[in-house]
Amino acid sequence: MSSLTPRPGILDIAPYKGGESKLQGVSRVIKLSSNEGALGASPKAQEAYRHAAAELYRYPDGGATRLRAAIGARHGLDPERIVCGCGSDELIGLLCRAYAGPGDEVLYSQHGFLMYSIYAKGVGATPVTAAEVDLRGSVDNLLAAVTEKTRIVFIANPNNPTGTYMTDAEVKRLRAGLRPDILLVVDAAYAEYVSRNDYTDGRELVDAHDNVVMTRTFSKIHGLGGVRLGWAYGPEGIIDVLNRLRSPFNVASPALAAGEAAIADAEFTDLARRHNDYWLPWVTGKLRDLGLEATDSVGNFVLVKVPDAAKCDAFLRGEGIIVRAMGGYGLPDWLRVTIGREDENQAFVEALGRFMEQQR
Ligand code: PMP
Repeated sequence: MSSLTPRPGILDIAPYKGGESKLQGVSRVIKLSSNEGALGASPKAQEAYRHAAAELYRYPDGGATRLRAAIGARHGLDPERIVCGCGSDELIGLLCRAYAGPGDEVLYSQHGFLMYSIYAKGVGATPVTAAEVDLRGSVDNLLAAVTEKTRIVFIANPNNPTGTYMTDAEVKRLRAGLRPDILLVVDAAYAEYVSRNDYTDGRELVDAHDNVVMTRTFSKIHGLGGVRLGWAYGPEGIIDVLNRLRSPFNVASPALAAGEAAIADAEFTDLARRHNDYWLPWVTGKLRDLGLEATDSVGNFVLVKVPDAAKCDAFLRGEGIIVRAMGGYGLPDWLRVTIGREDENQAFVEALGRFMEQQR
């Protein structure tokens, strides 16, 4: 045991456990546990990644100039108000480092993304959760949980793991109820999958207020989880702070190249969205046909309540299928399943059907 002691709170952090990708003795695993893009990465992004290998000896462009320009062009945003990161995780962490510290509180919804609490604890702040109502974030409960110590409020919109979202009107009401010295982070990691008219990724709020920031990722619809690439769009002041804090070369050159190609490949993202538009309701419908409760998700995953989650998880593993048991999120009866390719979705639904048969 080392005689060094980390700062208070660090040892309270339970290390994040990602979804496994291997099962002992199983050669073909169906991995539906990490909300990765069902169709993988765009071939153009893969080619750009490989091409970048020729310049591996050079440092990347620390300012991610071309990538920010490409993101700006695709989304109609000012590239000067974008910062790229090693996954949106890094940006979430930097926001905690910049705006919260010991004694402060970081607030988010009951079943919010695990990294909010990990990063909050990492800077010595206290993570605080507000109860959800029917697995949806509640503006009233979030506002009621704000104290004089609150520094940051995170909402994932849509939320992981519930898949539910807050409407534009709800997000606006939340922001309007926060003191101006509280930062609202709209984590829109799954934004591209949502096609509801009353949904917001937060960009309008970013443009209208100086205490709102939006984070996005290349890990989901762009299928680049392995590359580690995310971005934030915010008011000048917040972007300036993130640029001061981040590592000088926080995004590797192959990641910059792959991101640029991915964001330009609208055909691929349209295909990925259409795939999800078909298979998300298909999987959800099949779960309900089995008599199971499933959330109305708008992401690329769905949360399902099963009779015995540990047993069901083990059964699925036995069939070579990895989903995510949600005990760590305070949802011990639920499994989260990512929408996969056609054969993967079918295999999952059939295996779950066999499990349910066994329960009768
Ligand atoms: N936010 C949410 C809500 C997520 O689900 C995830 C990925 N699981 C992230 C952020 C982080 O994404 P990444 O670091 O891969 O960009």
